[in-house]
Amino acid sequence: MPDFDAIIIGAGQAGPSLAFRLAGAGMKVALVERHLVGGTCVNTGCTPTKALVASAYAARIARRSAEYGVEIGGDIGVDMRRVKARKDAIVAASRNGLTAALEKAENISFYRGHARFASQHSVEVAGERLQAARIFINVGGRALVPAMPGISEVRFLTNSSMMGVDFLPRHLIIVGGSYIGLEFGQMYRRFGGEVTIIEMAPRLVRCEDEDVSAAIQDIVAREGVDVRLNAKCVSFVRRGDEIVAKVDCAAGAPEVAGSHLLLAVGRKPNTDDLGLDKAGVRCDARGYIIVDDRLQTTAPGVWALGDCNGKGAFTHTAYNDFEIVAANLLDHDPRKVSDRLTAYALYIDPPLGRVGMTLAEARASGRRVLVGERPMTRVARAIEKGETQGFMRILVDGDSREILGASLLGTGCDEAVHAILDLMCAKAPYTVMQRAMHIHPTVSELLPTILGELRPID
Ligand SMILES: Cc1cc2nc3c(=O)[nH]c(=O)nc-3n(C[C@H](O)[C@H](O)[C@H](O)COP(=O)(O)OP(=O)(O)OC[C@H]3O[C@@H](n4cnc5c(N)ncnc54)[C@H](O)[C@@H]3O)c2cc1C
Repeated sequence: MPDFDAIIIGAGQAGPSLAFRLAGAGMKVALVERHLVGGTCVNTGCTPTKALVASAYAARIARRSAEYGVEIGGDIGVDMRRVKARKDAIVAASRNGLTAALEKAENISFYRGHARFASQHSVEVAGERLQAARIFINVGGRALVPAMPGISEVRFLTNSSMMGVDFLPRHLIIVGGSYIGLEFGQMYRRFGGEVTIIEMAPRLVRCEDEDVSAAIQDIVAREGVDVRLNAKCVSFVRRGDEIVAKVDCAAGAPEVAGSHLLLAVGRKPNTDDLGLDKAGVRCDARGYIIVDDRLQTTAPGVWALGDCNGKGAFTHTAYNDFEIVAANLLDHDPRKVSDRLTAYALYIDPPLGRVGMTLAEARASGRRVLVGERPMTRVARAIEKGETQGFMRILVDGDSREILGASLLGTGCDEAVHAILDLMCAKAPYTVMQRAMHIHPTVSELLPTILGELRPID
């Protein structure tokens, strides 16, 4: 049986980086991947969707060109085959680069196949048994397909099968009004199709503040995305060439007929076929691997990183998991998960950049909270770019003077939010940023201004 210092299951967003680090430290590492190197992010998640968002943005700006004094003769056409080809080329460059680096790395043996635990210290892959003192699980997740009535009667797409679409769906019905559904919804509307988003909750992206959800709904609705909220009892039937989603909404028609259906209702960890019981690795009720603050599982010598541990659902959280594990194992640096701050972006256009608490969370925390806000209509850079939708909000602890969180919805806000994130990581008082001289004209230049206009929350 081949003997390694470490086995890594899954070449997603933590596995390869960890493999390079461990191998660089002189360990013999086996890395096992059952499908595509780079995992969800590179192949069916972040990279392809942001490439598609960029094509959709180009179409949008081309249609608005006259507003900028630019004349484009004739209609704006979108060639979906070229849109897909551009996306595929970006994905392939990323995946192939990483695959080649893994294949030629010293001390890394790259195995292709589905890995399953045979015991706490051994794994079976493609008929071979590998063993190691340390095993790292980085198996990610997949689209959740709930047993909705009629779902087996209709053809549906997920974020993975959407990657093969090289045509324009005439009318895309999307079930799920959160991050994935919204990104696909706005993009396919901009490509020129009809889009209906069906959401069971009373508002889009319900983990955000109500006014943020409302502003996001306004942004997509103004572009012609039909949003159906409070959709209870969603079911499906086929009617000729059409897919019909039956919805029991408080308002609007009781059914939506479309040409294609995308399910974007959540993710499920890939932990159900890993033989975890043979290793003594326990999961919670939703299938996420239970880990401690340094990502060790319930089995000594086994760690779980990335989406499969339920501690994050982003590429940056998976990569941060790698940093935590490597720091503890190799650098005598006791980094832990609870040190990191919540941070993410929603890549509709304009994007939402988020860090820390929402207003609702700050209010519920019982602290003395100060808030500063500014609509993007009062941001010079946004006006100059002709992109004035959204608003920025920063929350401050009135006693410690530290920033509690921010919701920045507007052009450039996926980048601007990092200034706040870094200040929060430094645990610095907000006055550090308030007194900093920011560059004009940028979106970020208004952050000190907002902090100069703080008021108590209602
Ligand atoms: C549509 C979409 C858009 C997204 N956009 C963003 C974004 O903009 N920003 C962001 O931060 N996050 C985004 N995400 C989330 C991000 O893709 C994930 O959080 C990230 O990929 C998680 O990384 P991971 O390493 O945990 O798992 P994954 O990237 O899923 O990798 C897991 C790997 O393990 C392999 N594997 C699974 N089981 C086994 C097994 N038994 N044996 C061998 N190999 C196995 C899989 O094939 C896969 O390659 C998006 C997700 C989706 C679906």
